[in-house]
This record gives sequence, structure tokens and C-alpha cells, in this order.
Amino acid sequence: MRELIGVKQNSKSLSLFFTYHNKKGIFILYATIFIMGLFSFCADKDKAEKASPFFVESETEKPEIVLISVYDNYMVNPELKTSWGFACVIETPAEKLLFDTGGDPVILLSNMQKMNIDPGSIDKVIISHVHGDHAGGLEGFLEKNNDVTVFIPASFPGSIKNMIINEGAGFIVISEAKKISDFIYSTGELEGPPQEQSIIIDSKKGLIVITGCAHPGIVKIVEKAKQLMEKDSLYLVTGGFHNPPMAVVKKFRALGVKKVAPSHCTGDRVREAFSQEYKEDFIEYGVGRRIEIK
Ligand SMILES: [Zn+2]
Ligand SMILES: [Zn+2]
Repeated sequence: MRELIGVKQNSKSLSLFFTYHNKKGIFILYATIFIMGLFSFCADKDKAEKASPFFVESETEKPEIVLISVYDNYMVNPELKTSWGFACVIETPAEKLLFDTGGDPVILLSNMQKMNIDPGSIDKVIISHVHGDHAGGLEGFLEKNNDVTVFIPASFPGSIKNMIINEGAGFIVISEAKKISDFIYSTGELEGPPQEQSIIIDSKKGLIVITGCAHPGIVKIVEKAKQLMEKDSLYLVTGGFHNPPMAVVKKFRALGVKKVAPSHCTGDRVREAFSQEYKEDFIEYGVGRRIEIK
């Protein structure tokens, strides 16, 4: 610090500084320039992200969306099989996407068949994170339909990437937030562990967020979705919330979440607390549930 004060007192020119001050002073000068540069770089990056076309959707009308639970440990339709894991079909007028694949492809495909969802009708598969109860059904699914693009977190091991290629499908790795389809986005890979991506849908009624297991934290994911889409509220948050503290219920209200449909790893107590707080805006979610957003 002494050197810096010295510079102020006798700062006629930079050359004076270099002449009269020791190496520590020079280091502090360079460090200051570096930190200032870093700040301006971050500001530029922030501007670039804000200006990104990610936030700008075409003027076309937002599509009707149907969410169908095809794999969950919570039951809604007793004719379907429940098992620990999560998978959800997202239907738009243009295409069908599968978000996660549960743990067992036999259960996944059997549930889809009972709900008259042809695996061949799926165009895109998104895997939230590496855990077996979300990625375990992928290989068996690709054996039924490899004419899909699989969106996986960039951190996925080579073994899964090789498996997708060996099954004859293609994959896209996700690190930053990315558009997956019209009005459908990935939050990007968020820190876990393990690293995980969630889905954001810009629906007619507002934003929908679907999480696999919410390892990065359900509140952090919701905040990220709001920030990415520059919205103050969300219409619906659904998926596994990863057994968050009870305070999450009030926090969701504060974040402007209108409806909730927690399932999979949310935990019974938190799910019940959501049900008490949200009443008719609590959707009992589990395998067989269809949520239509029109
Ligand atoms: Zn997990
Ligand atoms: Zn899980």
C-alpha cells in the first residue's frame, strides 16, 4: 500500500513511477490493470449474453404444450409401472421431445406403449444429468428409435457419448444455455454435483421449468430460468426438486411461481407442504399425468 500512496503523492508521470518505486509497486500496478481489464471483459460478456438471440423468439404465436409423465416413482395412473426415476414427454404441435429416460428402458417403453406414445415419434431426447435413474433408459430407447438428436451435458463421460454413436444416433453437448427447439431451451449445464441441465419452455401461459433431479438446487435453477428469459414470474415448475428445505415453498411464492408439480426426488414432506400452500395450483404429478397448457 505504501507504494501506491507514494504514486498518488508524486504521480507526475508513469516513468517516475517506474524509476522510483520498487517491484512490489509495479506488481500492484499490473494487478490493478489486470483486474480492471477483467471487469470490463465481464461487462462485455454480460452485454453479449443479454444481446444474444437466445432471448429473442420470433413473433409467431406460442405453441400449445402437453407434458406427459412416462416414468416416475410417484403414481397417478395405476395401470402404469412406477420405478425410481424420471422421464417426461414434451409435446408441441411440431414435435415430441423426451426429457430423461428413467432407469429401466423396459419400464419406460412399456409405459409409453400403454399411453400410445410411439418411441418412433420422438424427435429429440434431452438428458438432465448422468445418474442412472435419468440416463439408464437411454440405450434401450435408442435401440427402438435412433433417429433422434440427444442433448447431453458436456460433462458426460465418453462411454455415454460412444454408446449414443454406436446406437446410430447423434448428440449435441450442452454447456451454456441453449435453444433446443422453438420456445424450448436448456438452462445450460449448472454446477451440481453432478452437473445438470433443466428445461425451460416459453408457453402460452408463461414459463415452464422442468427439472430432472435439481442437483444444482431447485431455487438456483428457477432463478437462472427467470434471469435467462428476463421474466419476473413462472407459470409452472415440475420435476424432481431433490428434497429441498421446507423454506423452498415460501421461496417459490417469492419467486413468482404460479403452479407446482413436484415429483421424483422432491420428498413426501416438501411435496405435502407445496400441496398445502398451493392448493388448486398444486398438480399431483406422477407417472401417467398429462398437463395440457393451452
Ligand atoms: Zn440425480
Ligand atoms: Zn433422480
